[in-house]
Amino acid sequence: MCTVADIRKKLLAQRRDLFCQVAQTEEELLWLETDVESEVEERGQGEKMVQLLDRLDERMRAEIEAIDRALVKLEAGRYGRCEQCGEDISQSRLEVLPAAPVCIGCAQARETRVALRT
Ligand SMILES: [Zn+2]
Repeated sequence: MCTVADIRKKLLAQRRDLFCQVAQTEEELLWLETDVESEVEERGQGEKMVQLLDRLDERMRAEIEAIDRALVKLEAGRYGRCEQCGEDISQSRLEVLPAAPVCIGCAQARETRVALRT
């Protein structure tokens, strides 16, 4: 069983990895190493954050949003609950996808709907 601090660390590391992929200068990388955590707490709208967000593609941005939502839920003590049906998300799923917003059942139902539409 992971502690809240462990999960938080994992989510922040994942978030930083995403930003590292688009960071282009040494200054930005350095900033990522030092300031991401405090940025998150201030709901980061710093200049650098905006620049980096600009470079993220849609998929990465969705991932960052999922991580941010997971962090908020973690603070509120609601982490690990499915946003759709309210059931607990399985531990094994959270290990692979710590920012997963919905349980496997709801994720599959969603995928099926997308598949049917296209
Ligand atoms: Zn669900």
